[in-house]
Amino acid sequence: MEPVLTIVVPCFNEEEVLPDTIHQLEQFVKQLTSEQIVSNRSRILLVDDGSKDRTWEIIYKTGLRNEHVRGLKLSRNVGHQNALLAGLFAAKDGSDCVVSIDADLQDDVQIIREFIDKFNEGNEIVYGVRKRRDTDSIFKRHTAQFFYKLMKRMGVDLVYNHADFRLMSKRAITELEGFKEVNLFLRGIVPLLGFRSDVVYYDRKERQAGETKYPLKKMLSFAFDGITSFSVSPIRFVLFIGFVSFFLSILFGLYFLMLKMLGETQTGWTSLITSIWLIGGLQLIAIGLIGEYVGKIYKESKQRPKFIIDIDTFSMPIPRHHLI
Ligand code: UDP
Ligand code: MG
Repeated sequence: MEPVLTIVVPCFNEEEVLPDTIHQLEQFVKQLTSEQIVSNRSRILLVDDGSKDRTWEIIYKTGLRNEHVRGLKLSRNVGHQNALLAGLFAAKDGSDCVVSIDADLQDDVQIIREFIDKFNEGNEIVYGVRKRRDTDSIFKRHTAQFFYKLMKRMGVDLVYNHADFRLMSKRAITELEGFKEVNLFLRGIVPLLGFRSDVVYYDRKERQAGETKYPLKKMLSFAFDGITSFSVSPIRFVLFIGFVSFFLSILFGLYFLMLKMLGETQTGWTSLITSIWLIGGLQLIAIGLIGEYVGKIYKESKQRPKFIIDIDTFSMPIPRHHLI
């Protein structure tokens, strides 16, 4: 029996690329079905992450003419990771495996064939890994590289150059549901599932149309969240610096005391003011970091839902009377 595949696509204000994306995915799934690689119950699930443009209208209307294209409309924008989760959890029930891909189709759709091969060989997770990053700006490439290195040094096992283009089996997604944390960083969590997995290499293209939904500010906060939700080593590092500066200041103190006893008292203001700034700065960093972790605990302790589904045409028949 061919596996039932669902392709999950998170979409945030993607009206410019979406018609083309849907068209390509529809063709692709049709091909796979006719080649008997996947079951004819395979579908495309588009998650509208609280878009302000015509995204939902496009999803909904396509659903009316093609029953293989379904939609999930979230009640507001919850961000790429949570939108993806909403899609994965919804898709899980009707599928054997689920592939997640971005709406801009920067990732090569055809590679999904290899994903399915690997899945049929018994892998629960298949990661799409970019061969090169030459479609990214130099800045993005370097910051991304730095991020992977940093995470690795802190002991977080990320798959290098893998974004959220991957296949997960029904079983893997079911286990993923057990991770209750609110700050869910999928790229870090999925390897933690620990099932048999494999990678497939591919070339990433330029964004087809529309703008990136990950401007610098979002990217940095994404990276920072990734780091702090996985590791306490930043806070340990600050503690370490704190100790070092403490001992250094004792040494300096002794040194200045010695100078004073020798009668050379012109040392004064400069060293004083520098150390005040130094210690003050260190304290602020430490407090800031502690605040970051406390903030995380605060968020987790509320156990808020990660997303709220407004309309679901995946598990329910499409409501024809429904206003878009
Ligand atoms: N996205 C989303 N919610 C958001 C931001 C982005 O669902 O709040 C989706 C977006 O529509 C796209 C994917 O996440 O399908 C990745 O975004 P984008 O391609 O803009 O990121 P980049 O490839 O530039 O890192
Ligand atoms: Mg993109």
